[in-house]
Amino acid sequence: MLSSPAFDYDVAIIGAGPAGTACALALRHSGLRVALLDKARFPRDKVCGDAIPGHALKALRQLDPAFADSLWQLEPLDAVRQSRLVAPNGGSLVLEWKLPSFSSPRATFDEALLTLVRTHAARTVILESTALRDLRLEADHVRLLPAQGPEITSRLVIGCDGAHSVVGRKLLPEPRLARAHHCVGVRAYFENIAGAESGTTEFFLTRDYLAGYCWLFPVGQGRYNVGLGMLAEVVAAHKVDLKQTLLRLLATHPALAGRFAAARQLGPVVGFGLPLGGGRVRPISGARFLLCGDAASLIDPLQGHGIDTAIQSGILAAAQAAACCAQRDFSAAFTAQYDAQIAEKIGRKLAKSYRLMRFLSTKPWLVDAAVRLARVPGLKPWVQRAIG
Ligand SMILES: Cc1cc2nc3c(=O)[nH]c(=O)nc-3n(C[C@H](O)[C@H](O)[C@H](O)COP(=O)(O)OP(=O)(O)OC[C@H]3O[C@@H](n4cnc5c(N)ncnc54)[C@H](O)[C@@H]3O)c2cc1C
Repeated sequence: MLSSPAFDYDVAIIGAGPAGTACALALRHSGLRVALLDKARFPRDKVCGDAIPGHALKALRQLDPAFADSLWQLEPLDAVRQSRLVAPNGGSLVLEWKLPSFSSPRATFDEALLTLVRTHAARTVILESTALRDLRLEADHVRLLPAQGPEITSRLVIGCDGAHSVVGRKLLPEPRLARAHHCVGVRAYFENIAGAESGTTEFFLTRDYLAGYCWLFPVGQGRYNVGLGMLAEVVAAHKVDLKQTLLRLLATHPALAGRFAAARQLGPVVGFGLPLGGGRVRPISGARFLLCGDAASLIDPLQGHGIDTAIQSGILAAAQAAACCAQRDFSAAFTAQYDAQIAEKIGRKLAKSYRLMRFLSTKPWLVDAAVRLARVPGLKPWVQRAIG
């Protein structure tokens, strides 16, 4: 028997973003009693560049091809064919992508993921507007204390609650990430940007802020997600006001100023943190808990995407949760199998990406040279592989 009626649920997933919804979808045939809690009521916004990586869609397709197919029907959506990279010296490079991917506002994309859970994991109990405030590990279960409403009990808790994870803060021995492993990003929506093309995502690297970049991503219906991300240690050391810096770049950068002259900003510039992966390996599980996505610091340090690793880790956590319940083993020694899986399937790539980001961050001339080199016939695939 898998379930234990003594507790409300076998598995409580905290957070219904990409990590939490992927985890619930991966548990849909497990027979376990699953709760999915989120402090928000959906649809809800999430500060992001809105570029849904091809590997995120591939992971969902592996769960069920219909999941990825339904997401391609979203409105608004812009299918990504290629990216344009503008180097600090103004040189540019166009890279074509083989793996299909798209951009769509997170309010739309995340609501669609939750709809997949409602449809395909119909026995999952979804509790919106339920913020986890605190939790306690007991000998044979976890007590979850929401900000409002009654206590919830489960045999295992999976923290998919993002960059400010309550689960991580309460249960990890060292919850804080160093500034060298944290990025800060801001974005705003715009329309009427001259020269912006549907199907082309654009990245602008500047000499001043190399450990980060400015982006311009079409998200469909003539709208664009425009943002700037930077390493937190650079922001702190130079006291950078990211919101002002983004608006200044759009008004003065030689490759942007003319294009934004008649652009209309649709709403405020808003910001959020990006916990980067690839640093010193830290535990992301323990007795009766697992962490996924941003809660486990799995954002790619070079490019800043984390929706793919959130979904991949949510799926891996579901397999670990099923194993814990089947074997009635919720010990730290057993859940550490999950850390090993993440290290092998995600961690190695993030570590490589982190090293490359640090290496390039002090060498604008090298980025200029790589962009120039990629124009030499035969060398472009090499540069594309290095970037990821
Ligand atoms: C400026 C910026 C730009 C980015 N651009 C991209 C991009 O273009 N492409 C990309 O792939 N990635 C991008 N990322 C990273 C991406 O947004 C994250 O990696 C991704 O959202 C992680 O998914 P997640 O499910 O782990 O967390 P989230 O998407 O943050 O979801 C966490 C969920 O938990 C809920 N929650 C939080 N606390 C509680 C609580 N106490 N109780 C209950 N629920 C709670 C939240 O409401 C939320 O729904 C960007 C990030 C930023 C900040």
